[in-house]
Amino acid sequence: MTGTVYKSTGSWYTIKNNLGEAYQCRIKGKFRIKGIKSTNPIAVGDVVDFELETNNDETTGIINNIHDRQNYIVRKSVNLSKQTHVIASNVDQVFLLVTIDNPPTFTSFIDRFLVTAEAYSVKTILLFNKIDSYSDDTLDEVKYLAHVYRKIGYECIGISATTGKNIDKVKSLMKDKTSMFAGHSGVGKSTLVNAIEPDLDLKTKEISTQHMQGQHTTTFAEMFDLSFGAKIIDTPGIKGFGVVDMDREEVGDYFPEFFELKQDCKFNNCLHLEEPKCAVKDALENDEIAYSRYRSYLQILEGEDEHYRTDNWDN
Ligand code: GDP
Ligand code: ZN
Repeated sequence: MTGTVYKSTGSWYTIKNNLGEAYQCRIKGKFRIKGIKSTNPIAVGDVVDFELETNNDETTGIINNIHDRQNYIVRKSVNLSKQTHVIASNVDQVFLLVTIDNPPTFTSFIDRFLVTAEAYSVKTILLFNKIDSYSDDTLDEVKYLAHVYRKIGYECIGISATTGKNIDKVKSLMKDKTSMFAGHSGVGKSTLVNAIEPDLDLKTKEISTQHMQGQHTTTFAEMFDLSFGAKIIDTPGIKGFGVVDMDREEVGDYFPEFFELKQDCKFNNCLHLEEPKCAVKDALENDEIAYSRYRSYLQILEGEDEHYRTDNWDN
């Protein structure tokens, strides 16, 4: 049988097959995924094959294969062990909620987030929330930022989770896809999810009563089916993505507008700093590249590991 991992407690995995039937499954023996050293061999979002076995009238599953991942998002532990934890896999898109005020979201945060998402091959859509509460000047700022990010290929939508403005647009983008929501604490993630699916709390309870042990771990991600044919992965306590190990030369590859220009730089390993005949610096001088984006690029280049982190900025 083939199914998708909806929840993990570390030893048990809740897996749903394509009929929506849920099974509690385990891994037998050692199970290692090629390419990644992580503390968890299987993550929420993974597609796996499993076999059912019945013991004392209880049917559980044994996972015997994991399908190739389309992408995966990791979190590296803050301590020195540098252990990697796969938060979720097979994520179609992340909605990054941005507010200008209450709390402010800085472009440096947005850009670091986008670089990480690009490195993970996860599509990002920017949602400018709380537009119901902004002054005209602040709305102008939203418009400017939306222009900057649209120009380089990111979809941007102004929304209000409290008035419902453009929530239907968000829902139509979510249909038939697996989505995550990210952004600083207080930007309105819970309010938005509640506007999208008011009954989700109820569903959460239904799902948790099906669990064999009845125990609820909050540190792990969990996937939910929404009523309109969308899936969301909820990641308690995680505001963004973790560290990605990047070489300095690689950073520019995750700025789409730099990547396009790079072939016109004189040096093919150009870091767009002080090198002569740099197409990125030329574009910057001609206002074809937003200065805030270049500044974020410099910050990331200069930053140490800790500066890549977007998952613990609120703490
Ligand atoms: P989270 O930490 O990202 O989950 O943020 P919450 O959903 O808890 O929202 C934080 C605060 O912002 C709450 O007081 C919400 O009522 C408020 N809020 C959320 N969305 C909106 C919005 O679209 N407009 C306004 N004016 N307030 C909002
Ligand atoms: Zn260059």
